[in-house]
Amino acid sequence: MPIINLFAELADEITGWRRDLHRHPELLYDTTRTSAMVARKLEEFGLDEVVTSIGRTGVVGVIKGRNGGGKTIGLRADMDALPITEETGKEYASENPGTMHACGHDGHTAMLLGAAKYLAETRNFYGTAVMIFQPAEEGGAGGKAMIDDGLFTRWGIEEVYGMHNSPGLPVGEFAMCPGAIMAAADMFEINISGRGGHAAKPHEIVDPIVIGSSIVTALQSVVSRNVDPLGQAVLSVTQFLAGTAYNIISETMVMRGTVRSLSLEVRDLVEARMKALVPAIAEGFGGKASVDYSRNYPVTVNDADRTEFAAEVARSVAGEAKVNAECVPMMAGEDFSFMLEERPGSYIFVGNGPTAELHHARYDFDDAAIPHSCSYWVSLVEKALPLAGVTLYRSCHHTGLSTVIARRNPGDPSLSASAVACWIARTKPGNDDGECGRPEAPRRLPYFRPPNAR
Ligand SMILES: [Zn+2]
Ligand SMILES: [Zn+2]
Repeated sequence: MPIINLFAELADEITGWRRDLHRHPELLYDTTRTSAMVARKLEEFGLDEVVTSIGRTGVVGVIKGRNGGGKTIGLRADMDALPITEETGKEYASENPGTMHACGHDGHTAMLLGAAKYLAETRNFYGTAVMIFQPAEEGGAGGKAMIDDGLFTRWGIEEVYGMHNSPGLPVGEFAMCPGAIMAAADMFEINISGRGGHAAKPHEIVDPIVIGSSIVTALQSVVSRNVDPLGQAVLSVTQFLAGTAYNIISETMVMRGTVRSLSLEVRDLVEARMKALVPAIAEGFGGKASVDYSRNYPVTVNDADRTEFAAEVARSVAGEAKVNAECVPMMAGEDFSFMLEERPGSYIFVGNGPTAELHHARYDFDDAAIPHSCSYWVSLVEKALPLAGVTLYRSCHHTGLSTVIARRNPGDPSLSASAVACWIARTKPGNDDGECGRPEAPRRLPYFRPPNAR
C-alpha cells in the first residue's frame, strides 16, 4: 500500500494529537506540557531511546532500523507557539489566552510523531533515524540550544532535515530550493541624542526626530544603492519612538528594526553601511547616534545534493507536477539554520492551502496536509537509509514458486561468504523439503525481488 494511503488511515489519530497541541500552546522554552506529551507518545511507540531536556525542553527519540549499523539522520520538528490571541473561532482554538499556534508548529510536531509511530513499527530501513523535537524556534534559538547540548555528537547525526508548512502553497504540494532558502534575521536599535527644549524655539535645540527621519530616509539607500541588485536584502525600521507632548522637543529618540539577508557578504555589508551612515548623519545635524546591531538566526542554507534528494522523495510522494524544486527563498528567519550550519541537509515547504499567513491571528493549520507530510518523512528515511541487502531464496522450476529463506542487510555478520555457502549447503538437492522436492540452489537477489515469494 502506498504510504500516503496508510497515513490516510492514521490521519484521524494524528489530527487528534495536532488539535490537542493546538488547544494548549506554549511559548519558547516553556513547552513542558508539549514535551511531556511528545516523550510519552514516543515511549508508547516503542522507540529505542527517548531523551528529554536536550536544549532545556527539547526531546530526542531514536529509532534503529533493522540489524543496527548504517548511517544516522535527524528529522526535526518545532514545538513552540506565539504570543497572539487566536481569532479562528475553531472548536480546537487555543485555551491559553494570548497564546496561539499561529505558525503551525502543532502540525509539525504531530506529523513527526506520526512518522515516528510508522517508522518504529515498520523499521524498513538500514540505519538510525533520530526524531528531534525542539523548543523556542520563534526567536529563542532552541535548535542551537539542542546543538549546544550535544544533539549531533551524542547520537552521531550525519544529515538533518526539516520542514515548514506554507500557506498559499496547495495542500499536497512541496517546494524547496538549493542554497539559501530562509534569510538571516537580525535586529538593530539606533539611539539618537540631540538637545531637547520648547517646540517654539527650534533654533535653540537639536531635534532628534529630524535626525531620526533623515536616518530612516538614508537607510533606504543601503539596499537600493549598496547591495548588489542580485543579492537580496530587506532593511525595515519598525519602531520610531520619541517625545512626550505636542509642545516639547525630546532630547533623545530610539529607533528599532530588522535586517534580513540571504548571504554572509550581504549581511556584513548592510551592518557596515548602517554603522557608517547613522553616526555621520547625526553629526551633520549636531547630534549623536549609535547603532546596536545584533545578529540572530543565520541564513538557512540547503545542501544542493540533499535538496535534490529531498525533491526526489517529494516527487515519489506527490508526483512530478506537485514539486517545485527551485522555489523562491523566504525572507523570514529560521532556527533550523543553526542545524544546517553543523550538518548537511535540507529544509522544505509543504502546502497548507489558502489560509491566513503565518503569525496571523486567523492562521489555521490544514489537517489535510498530514498524510502528505508524514509520507514525505517516512519515504525520506526509507530512501536515505535503504535496505540494500540481499534476499536468499529458492525457487521451484515446476511450480514457479519462490520461497524466501533469508534476508540480510549490509553489516549483518551472517552475510559473510561462508554464511551464504552454509545456506546453500542446507538447501542443496536432497536436503530440501520444498514445494515439489526438486529444488535448485538458492540465488542472491535484491530485497523483495521475487513477487511470488512466500
Ligand atoms: Zn513562526
Ligand atoms: Zn514556524
